[in-house]
Amino acid sequence: MNYFDMQELLDFSTAVLAAAGSTAAEATVVARHLVEANLTGHDSHGVGMIPAYVRHVRAGTLQPNAALEQVQDQGAILTFDGQRGYGQRLAREAIAAAVARCRETGLVFMGLRNCHHMGRIGSYGEQCTAAGLVSLHFVNVVDHRPVVAPFRGTAARYSTNPICLAMPATANTGAILLDMATSQTALGKVRVALNKGEQMAAGTLYDGFGKPTTDPAVMFAEPCGAITPLGAYKGYGIALFCELLAGVLTGGGTIQPGNPQLGGIVNHMASLLIDPQRLVERQWMQDEIDALVAHLKSSPAEDPARPVLVAGEPEVLSRRERMRSGIPVDDTTLAQLLDAGEMAGVSPAQAEALRRGSSRSAKPVC
Ligand code: NAD
Repeated sequence: MNYFDMQELLDFSTAVLAAAGSTAAEATVVARHLVEANLTGHDSHGVGMIPAYVRHVRAGTLQPNAALEQVQDQGAILTFDGQRGYGQRLAREAIAAAVARCRETGLVFMGLRNCHHMGRIGSYGEQCTAAGLVSLHFVNVVDHRPVVAPFRGTAARYSTNPICLAMPATANTGAILLDMATSQTALGKVRVALNKGEQMAAGTLYDGFGKPTTDPAVMFAEPCGAITPLGAYKGYGIALFCELLAGVLTGGGTIQPGNPQLGGIVNHMASLLIDPQRLVERQWMQDEIDALVAHLKSSPAEDPARPVLVAGEPEVLSRRERMRSGIPVDDTTLAQLLDAGEMAGVSPAQAEALRRGSSRSAKPVC
């Protein structure tokens, strides 16, 4: 395993994205999002995505520097089109517009369609909670072959459709952020397991012939395997609503096969932003959240080393640990990242700087 401090990964990632055609400003926003995903423990949505992004730019399924197009503005209802640009930048811009509008209207439905991969959806929940807003985000994934089987099915028909639900922090409780794929696991986590030579948990995968397996390679084989839905029919039902809210209400389209599939990754997102101060008194809300969280945490832990947490805390703990001891990048992911850099045309000096970082044998203290 290689350990990098965040600046090393930021510098290299920014250089690759800029070499692949992004302005310096876009490359910086996307690289920060990716490294932040690594810091929060979501390596599946971190710098390991860059090789796919470089391939998609070359294939024309990802358009660097695409403008955020406003499709409609009806006061509390906004719709944007990302024109296949980097989702990390476009969703950030669209959420900023929705936050500004929510200050006027108290409630906003923001539809954002046709972005390339938006990455870690929790990032947009954090953008809302930082502004003091509650938010709900439903995302579908199209343009890509399906990777998740519907409940009772053994072949993939839709994707890992993430949701994010976010509540602002109080004086004593950090922002509560439930941010998750609606499949047993995110596809990127299967890629990470494959790169590390690990098996997946039983009950997570079917191979391309509909047989249960723990081998992550089935998701990158022909015929492709399938991930099972989270929580059987309940996760399947939530994933279906990601298709309906993000796919239908934004106008972007669902994963049904009548829609074009170019082989990239396109996310559509339906977001609901709520200003809680229009509903309840601030101090009462904060006291109520603190009391609820304290009540949940008072449940004795089965293992004292693993206390009760609330959603969002694992990411805060991971960030703290990785800021201190470095971001782990396995050898395969590092090699893929360096290859992507070479393909995009980064300078040999930049690749050498990343290799130097990887030659450290112990975790750095950042
Ligand atoms: P995960 O299973 O690691 O975490 C899911 C949620 O559970 C998080 O909110 C986390 O805080 C919470 N959690 C974890 N352990 C907990 C505990 N002990 N107690 C209480 N809460 C706990 O996440 P995932 O489902 O693997 O998703 C990973 C990332 O992938 C997310 O950021 C998601 O947005 C992203 N994703 C993106 C796409 C896309 O197309 N853009 C698709 C799928 C997933």
